[in-house]
Amino acid sequence: MNTLLQIKIVDSGNFDPSSPDKLAALLVSLGNKLDRFKPTSEIHKVNRNAGLKQVQVSPETIDVVSQALAIHKKTNGAFDPTIGPLVDLWQITPSSSVPSDKWQPPSEKAISLATSLVDGNKVKIDDKEIFLPLSGMSLDLGGIAKGYALEQARDYFRSAGINNFLIDFGGNVYVEGLRPGEKPWRVGIRHPQKQAEVIAWVELTGVAFSTSGDYESYRLYGKDRYCHILDPRTGKPSANLASVTVVSPIPVQADALSTAAFVLGPVDGLKLIEEWPDAEAIFIDKDLHVFATSGLNGKVHINK
Ligand code: AMP
Ligand code: MG
Repeated sequence: MNTLLQIKIVDSGNFDPSSPDKLAALLVSLGNKLDRFKPTSEIHKVNRNAGLKQVQVSPETIDVVSQALAIHKKTNGAFDPTIGPLVDLWQITPSSSVPSDKWQPPSEKAISLATSLVDGNKVKIDDKEIFLPLSGMSLDLGGIAKGYALEQARDYFRSAGINNFLIDFGGNVYVEGLRPGEKPWRVGIRHPQKQAEVIAWVELTGVAFSTSGDYESYRLYGKDRYCHILDPRTGKPSANLASVTVVSPIPVQADALSTAAFVLGPVDGLKLIEEWPDAEAIFIDKDLHVFATSGLNGKVHINK
């Protein structure tokens, strides 16, 4: 999944840290199924057959796509796993080969064409097969796959009898039990403009933290900055926030919801998470003002 996996284990249970082969195999196999840029992946095959025929995929792929579509419905389309045509058009993510001095925003015409191909409601899915009915449609699981992988890694450690651990999978963090010194884990929220700085922190456990930020990948054009999270309603990069961190005991939900809340912005995004069971969030707006949902009252510490 083109990202770094970092693990901290406090107690070792039955797990032999010198041979994390099984976990590595699990994550690699997941990446091989879900990465739409890999010509051998299941998602690549589904996308290749858009408008042509349904494609049989593994239970894991059915599981991720079904969860993505459920969140699409519950976020009124702010999270849309069929965002592929817009991701390809904008060329903002690291998968893009367009050099920065050659990059420019696409035309309105191209944006409206790509937007017409983005619609999670159109995906046909049962317990074995996925079909994208329009030629040119494509699934992109970039907003949810890491959360799904994080969940698998968490379950792997739990089944190995490990009770106290932290997993950081490309900015999606899961903490369980206590850190050394018998204290709850302390998780920092990155300063959106200063890579090495933490703007705020919380102490929690048994939850995932997923951050969607405008600094993760972006393009500059003249004075304007375009980030990699796209609003399916406008077909354009979302520009309402600097970052959103969603905290939830369900990692896959934290990941997809951080993308959705980022798209919805400070008002509707906050409302979405307030109303969502099992989720809280920390928002940082463009002026670096930090605010959070009511469940985190008194728990967000601002770094002075
Ligand atoms: P994240 O960092 O989890 O917010 O994921 C961002 C990635 O999700 C992007 O690089 C795209 O691959 C994909 N993406 C962008 N916009 C959306 C959206 N509105 N809904 C779902 N996925 C998206
Ligand atoms: Mg996400």
